Formats: sequence, structure tokens, C-alpha cells
Amino acid sequence: MAETVTMEKVVALCKRRGFVFPSSEIYGGVGSTYDYGHYGVLLKSNVKNEWWRAMLQDREDIVALDSAIIQHPRVWEASGHLAGFTDPLVDCRTCKLRFRADHIDQSACGLKPSKHPGEHSECNLTEARDFNLMFETTVGPVKEQGATAYLRPETAQGIFINFKNVLQFSRKKPPFGIAQIGKSFRNEITPGNFIFRTREFEQMEMEYFVPPDEAHNWFEHWLKERMDWYVELGLRPDHLRLRAHERDELSHYSSATSDVEYLFPIGWSELEGIANRGCFDLTQHADFSGEKLEYFDPETKERYIPHVIEPAAGADRATLAFLVDAYEEEEVPGAASEQGQTMESRTVLRLHPRLAPVKVAVMPLVKKDGQPELARGIHDQLRRLMQSEYDEGGSIGKRYRRQDEIGTPWGVTVDHKSMEDHTVTLRDRDTLAQERIGIDELAGELQRRLAAPWRSPKLG
Ligand code: ATP
Repeated sequence: MAETVTMEKVVALCKRRGFVFPSSEIYGGVGSTYDYGHYGVLLKSNVKNEWWRAMLQDREDIVALDSAIIQHPRVWEASGHLAGFTDPLVDCRTCKLRFRADHIDQSACGLKPSKHPGEHSECNLTEARDFNLMFETTVGPVKEQGATAYLRPETAQGIFINFKNVLQFSRKKPPFGIAQIGKSFRNEITPGNFIFRTREFEQMEMEYFVPPDEAHNWFEHWLKERMDWYVELGLRPDHLRLRAHERDELSHYSSATSDVEYLFPIGWSELEGIANRGCFDLTQHADFSGEKLEYFDPETKERYIPHVIEPAAGADRATLAFLVDAYEEEEVPGAASEQGQTMESRTVLRLHPRLAPVKVAVMPLVKKDGQPELARGIHDQLRRLMQSEYDEGGSIGKRYRRQDEIGTPWGVTVDHKSMEDHTVTLRDRDTLAQERIGIDELAGELQRRLAAPWRSPKLG
């Protein structure tokens, strides 16, 4: 199937249907900051819920945590972020633009965009300077007397500094994990590509603590688990790959890192990083805090610092991947009756039903003859079980198209026959099949479909 999706189309659909808007738009916007509207909130929270489900509900060796965004400044000294979380930057004194020194060959000159910075005769670049990506703030009411603190650039450190608390109260022993979802902040130099890279974003990170000699096996385990998660939620396997970092790409503490990459319209790009971090983080925090961060095994009488395997994903980036993968434009039979003769084009989000913002739309065919009342009653019954939307505005064809665009997998239509025999039409977003079903069976049938495994129709 030919790829029709571009980033522009996804951005336009997100704006049109209220998934995501540029932030502060009435003030002209601030670069690379976005606000999520109703359907965007529902979609992203479904992505996060699926991650929690995989971490907490489907297994018994991981516990949840929600740590603070502003932590003790020493945390970032210990983690290495204060000294090392930098990008080398060059400024152009002529056009006043700023570029990442290591991305010059992918950047456009401010005077002549077809050239790279430094190639135009009037370019006047500074030497490369390191620029720390952490946002600084002041804790305390008086700026001058307050202490400098940082907005966390990752959620992971909040997990390491709570290792002891969790170990004490969770009744877990290695191998076990601590999972967290939350906002992180990075003063990215070259943000862009919609919600792919923003200065404020949500991470889904899990630190898995293991006996040192088991680290490699658990690293392999998590590579597979995380790839399977994306595939199970509908991403096409041929648009996903694992890329192992080369030796010179590895962080100094990591013995192995692989990225889950997705084929975005901008090319293969990182969706998630999975790293074998060794005992670096716990050792650093033990040194800086003076607390012992280790595990004593009462059976073997062995004391050791666990090694850590970290799958670190981005909720916004994953949401973007699911949107891109689901987006499709196609010709379908005319809207009035989907058996109609004329063809028309529709845009559809073929999202996994569990990710779809709205699971079912309930619609009366006409706004009279008791149909709206019956449809509302059905909606009231279904909304207790799943996100349901009542929709009576506009022609039925227009309503179907609207629901297709937000990815609603099922539509329920009440018509004159419903009033007589207590049945409705159940329409499938992907196959367009319509079947008659008794109103009493509807809730059970939808719950059954929602729980069933799902495969993207794009796979044929
Ligand atoms: P990149 O190389 O793209 O900057 P990274 O390797 O610095 O990413 P990590 O520190 O490994 O990213 O963070 C884990 C995950 O958090 C990334 O895989 C991505 O999904 C997400 N993430 C990181 N930075 C951003 C950002 N600026 N905007 C949105 N998501 C991000």
C-alpha cells in the first residue's frame, strides 16, 4: 500500500479534530510547545495506560512511583547531568541563528537555506560552546537568596533516589522494577517535527534492578518485551526496528544500548532507548548521598549493588508514532448508504481499539420519532463501560466521516427499525461492514471486541 502520510497531514488532522494545538497560539505561539485537546488527551492517556498495563498488570515484578519534578540539586551532580548533559552549539553573528555543532550538515543557513551554516560568504560562526539542556529555576521566594534547582530532564533519577524506600516497602527483591510516567524538560536546541521533539514532554521509564550476572539476559528480555508492546498495539512490524548503539555512541556507563526506531515521515528515528546501565546510577547516588544503595540477599548472605536495565520511552513520541501508523486516506462507497454507487474519499485513523480516544459513537439516524431518546439511552448504558460519544449533528455520512477521522472503531446507529424490533446497526470503522444487533447484546459484543487481539488492516 502506498504511503500517503506526511507530517503535515498528521499535524493538520490533529488541529482539525482537536487532538493537539500549538501552545499559546493567541500570543503567536512559543516554539515547539503543544497543548493536547480532548481527543489528544484521551489518546495519550490510553497510550500511558497500556504502558502501565504492560508494566504493572501483566506482571508481578514491577511497582509504580511518582517522584517530584524538582529534586535536590545534588541529584543532577551525581547523575552527571550538571556537568555532561550538554550539546555543543555555534551561533552565527550575522543571522543570529544558533545551531548544534554536530548537526551543521543537517541545518540550513539563515541567509541561504539551500546552504549549510558556514558555507555562505557572510556567515560568521562562533566557536562551539557547550549548552546545558536543563532548565534552571530558583527555589525560595527571593530569587537572589534562593537555591538554584532544575526541572528534571528525565524521570529515571527520581527512581534511583527512591531505590531504598521502594526496596523497604515493596517486599520485592532483584530482579524487580520501578516504573514511572511523568513530565521531563529539556531546553532542546533544535526542537521540531511536531510532538516528536519538544522542550516539555512525558516519559515512560522503568528501571529494572537485577543481580549483576543476570544483566545481559534481562537486557535481551526487555528488548523483546518492548518491541512486542508496540507491535501488539498495532504498529506495523516493517516500520519498526531495533538499532544497537555503536561502541562510540554508548554513554560512558552503558555496556549496551539499543533504540527502538520507527519509520516516521522524517525517516527512521528513536522511539525508545533500552540501556544496560550497569551499577553506575546507584553507585553515584551512594557516593554523593552517603547512603548505602545495595541489596542484601538473606538467603545467600550476599551483598551487592544491583545492575539496571532501563527501557525509556516517550509518551508523546509514541502517540505520534501511533497516529502516523494509523493515518490513511482511501476511496470508499458513497456516504449516504455505504452500499451507494458513488465513491468518495475518507481519512481514517486505524488505531488499535484500545488506543482509540472514543470506542463507540451512538447516533440516531434522524432527530425525531423517538430515535434521539433511544440513542441517548444506549449511550448512557455504554458510557459506563467505555468512552462513548453521542452524536446527532449533521448527515449520517458526515458523522461517520468525523468518527473515522478520530479513529472510533465502532458506530451504532438507531433508525426507524430500532423502534420496532429493538435492534441497531453496528458499523465497523475498518471493514465498513454493518450488521444488525440486538440492543441488549451490544454492550457484551463491544466489550468482547475491545478485549480481542487486533491487527492493523494496513497489513493486508
Ligand atoms: P534523542 O536522541 O531523540 O534526543 P534521547 O536519546 O536523548 O533522545 P532519552 O534520554 O533516551 O532520549 O529519553 C528516552 C525517550 O524520551 C526517547 O526515546 C524519546 O521517546 C523521549 N524523549 C526524549 N527527548 C524528548 C523530547 N525532547 N521530546 C519528546 N520526547 C523526548
